[in-house]
Amino acid sequence: MSPSTIKDALRSVRADIAAAAQTAGRDPASVKLLAVSKTKPAEAVAEAYDAGQRDFGENYSQELVQKAAALSHLAELRWHHIGHLQSNKVKQLLPIAYLFHGVDRLSLSAEMDKRAAVLNRPVGVLVEVSLGDEETKSGCSPDELAGLVAAVRASHHLELCGLMTMPPLFEDPELARPYFRRLRELRDAHGGAEALPELSMGMSNDFRVAIEEGATIVRVGTAIFGGRGH
Ligand SMILES: *Cc1c(COP(=O)(O)O)cnc(C)c1O
Repeated sequence: MSPSTIKDALRSVRADIAAAAQTAGRDPASVKLLAVSKTKPAEAVAEAYDAGQRDFGENYSQELVQKAAALSHLAELRWHHIGHLQSNKVKQLLPIAYLFHGVDRLSLSAEMDKRAAVLNRPVGVLVEVSLGDEETKSGCSPDELAGLVAAVRASHHLELCGLMTMPPLFEDPELARPYFRRLRELRDAHGGAEALPELSMGMSNDFRVAIEEGATIVRVGTAIFGGRGH
């Protein structure tokens, strides 16, 4: 997408977020937009930053490291790691990422806590829950959630900020609604909004529905930066 198109797309996504929040009787400021820039060049990120966007999400560690280095002059930019995180990438990513959306197993939280000891700040994490029927490669099961939440709470250097989920892909966004609702119910069952303020859920196709179900962070890539091809 050309630079001006990114700006226009951002404006339109922000308007859609505000409209969905209003429909749900929520304060639009209670929903944060995470711009998912995976596979897109650093220039596209810089253009979105120029349009006021500050939070960016990346899946692939090497790509995140490279873009963070290329854009280190953008002082207010916050990188989020989204999706599956390999334990052997933790050391490299901890100093770069502001929030990790994919903490889904005890071994990973233990590795993160150990490595975070050398940082002079707590590391924000979201526990990822898998709510689909099929076997997915990331996310803990609802049954494992209590144990993982307890482990992160008992850690020394991790700050538990909330929960994240990624439903199966549906063409009709209404079909994702039960998954978003379920994540909110799990949040309520594990301490409520005070203990787990962030619900990271909703992507380009279904963020309006996610906002109606309580999302506080929507992760939007395609609707801002265009398609990613194959
Ligand atoms: C790629 C990705 C997104 C963004 O998806 P779009 O459909 O492009 O908005 C959100 N969350 C995760 C975990 C992703 O991997």
